[in-house]
Amino acid sequence: MYSVGIDSGSVATKAVLFDGEIVEKVIIPTGWSPKTAAEEALNLLLTRSKVNRDKVKKIVGTGYGRVSMAFVDKTVTEITCHGKGAHFLNNKVRTILDIGGQDSKVISLDSKGNVIDFIMNDKCAAGTGRFLQVMSNVLGFDVSELDTLARDVEPEPITSMCTVFAESEVISLLAKGVSKERTASGIVHSIANRGVSILGRVNLSDEIAFTGGVAQSEIIKEAIEEKIKKSIYTPKDSQIVGALGASIIGWNMIKK
Ligand code: ADP
Repeated sequence: MYSVGIDSGSVATKAVLFDGEIVEKVIIPTGWSPKTAAEEALNLLLTRSKVNRDKVKKIVGTGYGRVSMAFVDKTVTEITCHGKGAHFLNNKVRTILDIGGQDSKVISLDSKGNVIDFIMNDKCAAGTGRFLQVMSNVLGFDVSELDTLARDVEPEPITSMCTVFAESEVISLLAKGVSKERTASGIVHSIANRGVSILGRVNLSDEIAFTGGVAQSEIIKEAIEEKIKKSIYTPKDSQIVGALGASIIGWNMIKK
């Protein structure tokens, strides 16, 4: 018996197969159709794990595209799912900073992983994964190469907050001869500053988890740690925390 959680994000669709533990996980691009991506993620999850569809007793959808998933048993907000997922991975966590493709959020949890407060920035791409994608495009590297490129490099400050203006700023910096590495390091600090600013809007606990696709960058995490003077826990599977939480909610529905 299994549950499945599917997190339909703006950039990536994540799916987790769960039986009390994570059995399998999938991360694929959402592309133009969240519905197709969610179906593909589910099929891939079952194929990879060699589990029959009829063994999956509950499917829970989350993320911005959750409304498009007609085949799910329940939909739940990503805030609740992130809380459940982070609590499962580390039950000491009381604050979550999630930086995804098009939004960033901070969630405060109680000792059971229930959400007690949250702040969401989904009005502006600055400091999000999209911001990083746009900038890495201009600089000609893949987001996964950021840490190699910008580690231990003095940052060139990026002063523009807006993604569109920051893109022009980065183009002018390169034209002035500022190195790709220093510019990339400036981008790291710009994203970290946005993260710190949203973290500053809640009562910070001592156990902070950093989740979402952007949390895969070790140097962004380190820059945030340096600025807030606290250490941060980043799950190995930072990008699937929402999908994991959805699968746990499905699992609890089965157990009831
Ligand atoms: P969403 O749920 O909105 O689709 P995700 O949490 O899946 O967002 O994160 C997607 C973002 O993760 C992408 O915009 C990308 O910039 C970022 N990302 C992916 N891999 C890395 C990496 N290795 N380092 C930094 N950012 C990354």
